[in-house]
Amino acid sequence: MANLIRNICTRTPSASSSFHRAFSVSSTNNKNYSCKLLVVGGGSGGCTIANKFARRLGKDAVIVVEPSKHHYYQPLWTLVGAGVKRVADTRRSARSVLPAAATWVVDRAACLHPERNKLVTEEGHEIEYEYVVVATGIDNDYDKIPGLKQALDDIHSGVSTIYSAEYCEKTWRDLQLFTGGDAIFTFPDTPIKCPGAPQKIAYMTDAYFEKKNIRSKANIHYNTFLPVIFGIKKYADELLKVAARKNISVNYRTLLTAVHGDRKEATFVVKDADGKNVSESTVPYDLLHVTPAMRTPEFLRTNTALVDKTGFLDVDKYSLQHKKYKNMYGIGDCTNTPNSKTAAAIAKQCYVLEQNLLKTMKQDTPSASYDGYGACPLVTSYNTCILAEFLYDGVVHETFPFDQVSAKESRLAYYLKRDMFPFIYWNAMLKGYYHGPEFVRTFAAPLARLAGKKD
Ligand SMILES: Cc1cc2nc3c(=O)[nH]c(=O)nc-3n(C[C@H](O)[C@H](O)[C@H](O)COP(=O)(O)OP(=O)(O)OC[C@H]3O[C@@H](n4cnc5c(N)ncnc54)[C@H](O)[C@@H]3O)c2cc1C
Repeated sequence: MANLIRNICTRTPSASSSFHRAFSVSSTNNKNYSCKLLVVGGGSGGCTIANKFARRLGKDAVIVVEPSKHHYYQPLWTLVGAGVKRVADTRRSARSVLPAAATWVVDRAACLHPERNKLVTEEGHEIEYEYVVVATGIDNDYDKIPGLKQALDDIHSGVSTIYSAEYCEKTWRDLQLFTGGDAIFTFPDTPIKCPGAPQKIAYMTDAYFEKKNIRSKANIHYNTFLPVIFGIKKYADELLKVAARKNISVNYRTLLTAVHGDRKEATFVVKDADGKNVSESTVPYDLLHVTPAMRTPEFLRTNTALVDKTGFLDVDKYSLQHKKYKNMYGIGDCTNTPNSKTAAAIAKQCYVLEQNLLKTMKQDTPSASYDGYGACPLVTSYNTCILAEFLYDGVVHETFPFDQVSAKESRLAYYLKRDMFPFIYWNAMLKGYYHGPEFVRTFAAPLARLAGKKD
């Protein structure tokens, strides 16, 4: 596939060819398209933006390139892993969420030519655009860990991940089959979606083992590459108490480097603060939950005109406009904005992007600014959750008129996570009508002032 993509991308039109005359491509079914706005990727961010602009620009002005026939609400995969939901509960057809007024090209982007305002897909379709929004998310990089993919595909290996529609039900199966021993949870050395989820599934595992009355037979280890349990001190302090209460050993700077699923062993290296290896050990496990390394899709990370050194789309962190190409914006996990990669962040980003792209379309200067809002509902059991909310630079930014950590692990936050957030996602956010919980704060702020809470 990589070779095919390279062939498609290095093919150049002859000097005389206009975009609308197809140049030599591999299939006779290749089509040429043109549009006002191209949205690359139709997941949380792309679908939201496509719906907003299909309404604004009218029929056939927007094209979405999205290969998957299914759209998933990924935040519920944590609860799938814990047996609260099934993967089918998180899935809808992509057709049902993408805008009817837009053209959906069911294919994968293979090459983006920003100088020529053109995208070529893997099947060789060519799409010319005036404006483009890149929203391709990030992919699991299973190959980075030798043995991981084989172990995930082996039903008897005890290895799973909630970070995939394919494997999150395996996590629940492994939890049910567990009778005692070592349960290990990992966090990798790359940016990932929802950085709270690797520990959430460890807490849910503890709660499930308690319910099943086998907790005393289990040793739960949380091995994280990071030097802290969570990036924001206020929440990290509380989460360390949760881990201590649950007797979960938290091991920092500890990186999974190989999985030996056939003999149920995993290799870890421990790093020092400079990233040098301090030690390496291969340990037995009875259950291994892996959070894979993640990266942007190949067509993006290999296009050096578009990405920064880490392979993420290089946008201004406030305006979300590409630093070099002013008719290009980015949203969601594939960009290099230093916020937590969450659907909650996209709710806020989509409003800023909409305002700024409209200005760009009018040859005006974008002025809306993304503040880095992100949220992480850290489920700690089958009915409790700590709802972390924050802005750029770790500034805590809570919605409710009480201290969300002093309120301890809250039932309200759990039911928001399980029931309310999915409802908002399918019925408001994807349709482009939800811009985060600021409106709640408008009502809550006076109450907070009455209660003497500082913002
Ligand atoms: C286990 C788990 C738990 C999570 N928990 C939470 C949570 O509690 N709260 C929260 O807010 N967020 C949570 N998230 C994160 C949230 O789901 C993501 O941040 C969000 O979905 C990212 O949206 P996106 O549009 O950037 O990417 P996605 O929604 O992943 O969409 C990217 C789309 O691009 C498409 N694509 C990929 N490659 C190409 C290509 N070459 N060409 C065209 N299209 C392409 C894909 O098919 C996909 O549809 C969680 C995620 C996971 C996996």
